[in-house]
Amino acid sequence: MIRREDALQYHCQGRAGKIEVQPTKSCSTQRDLAMAYTPGVAEPCREIELNPDRVFEFTAKGNLVAVITNGTAVLGLGHIGPLAGKPVMEGKSVLFKRFADIDVFDIELNSTDPDEIIRVVKVLEPTFGGINLEDIKAPECFYIEERLQGILNIPVFHDDQHGTAIISGAALLNALELQGKKINEVKVVFSGAGAAGIACAELYIKLGVRRENVYLVDSKGVVYKGRKEGMNPYKERLANGSEPMSLADAMKGADVFAGVSVAGLVTREMVKSMADKPIIFAMANPDPEIGYKDALEVRSDLIMATGRSDFPNQVNNVLGFPFIFRGALDVSATAINDEMKISAVYALAALAKEDMPDSVIKAYGGQSLQFGPQYIIPKPFDPRVLIWESTAVARAAVETGVARKPIYDWDAYRQNLEG
Ligand code: NAP
Ligand code: MG
Repeated sequence: MIRREDALQYHCQGRAGKIEVQPTKSCSTQRDLAMAYTPGVAEPCREIELNPDRVFEFTAKGNLVAVITNGTAVLGLGHIGPLAGKPVMEGKSVLFKRFADIDVFDIELNSTDPDEIIRVVKVLEPTFGGINLEDIKAPECFYIEERLQGILNIPVFHDDQHGTAIISGAALLNALELQGKKINEVKVVFSGAGAAGIACAELYIKLGVRRENVYLVDSKGVVYKGRKEGMNPYKERLANGSEPMSLADAMKGADVFAGVSVAGLVTREMVKSMADKPIIFAMANPDPEIGYKDALEVRSDLIMATGRSDFPNQVNNVLGFPFIFRGALDVSATAINDEMKISAVYALAALAKEDMPDSVIKAYGGQSLQFGPQYIIPKPFDPRVLIWESTAVARAAVETGVARKPIYDWDAYRQNLEG
């Protein structure tokens, strides 16, 4: 348990906050000064003016990501606004740096107007190699991301949508394999039709789940065709059936439950009513849709994941965004497209099947994990995640033609990541 006083102390001790900016070139002599600033700095300016792509050689743009929020859906805290959301964005910056050596400017925008946010982010493009949208509420987040992806020539990635989808997508592939189920035959119930729920559903469909086997449940029940209440175009695309239905109804005979909603919605009876060898990803944070022990008590044939670190199979976004951006930035990608996301899914799923090296076993208190119901996704502190996932993403970028700076020697690239 983290105590309030300790958390506040952590944030305020020494220099306030969690990040600072560090120069990467020496600046201790008159000559250094003349290089870093005028007159020396004019030379890279002229080069970039003549050839804009050289900005990636002479500035930090290529390793710099903007973490952008308006504070409308911060963690489980809700609409706390951009100022109160700043510690979270600084925290995200710390994770980018710690896991993938990516530098971040966190940008908190005082606006709830999607078009204003789009305008602001659009004009910020010259500064950054990528945009990580964060904690912006649904359904505006879908519109903002889509519009920006269309306008900008750098990756735009809303982590609350795709991070969860990618990590849980990898868990899904492995859980299905262990349960002996085919992805194009399973019935999948999603609880939560917000940022994470819609993105998970659309990604699982790209991975092979049939759209007609998807049941999306929100606070009004199953999203069915013709429903009027609480709808938006993103829910509409996933509407199923033409009659109102409850979560309990949808759960009957379901092979997979993916929860990105609120704590405690799923009962033991619902778990009992699922198909043989069910899969439950109860990812609501901090408390899942059903507790790990509760669910396993009623179904011993279950494979389960949650968002928590105190149970097996934690679905944690930190397994995604640092490494996905690492791969995208390393080829100066103009986008993070579906192929890149799907490559990340397959890389994570494949890595979970590899033997665990001693360094990782040590980092997790001497506990060795082997591919199985208790270990379907890699651990964040596994150093191989960087190598596997970033390489997969960079490769997909090159193969789909969105790499400004294609890589030809993949062995050298991997070695570079290891070093
Ligand atoms: P969101 O955009 O606010 O969406 C929440 C969704 O839950 C909405 O569709 C909402 O329904 C639905 N909901 C609320 N109360 C409900 C109820 N009683 N019954 C059924 N549905 C209900 O939030 P989000 O960003 O997608 O995140 C959702 C949850 O997933 C949060 O708990 C978050 O912490 C968790 N999450 C976990 C991870 C992870 O890695 N473990 C990652 C991302 C998110 P309406 O549409 O009707 O309002
Ligand atoms: Mg978030």
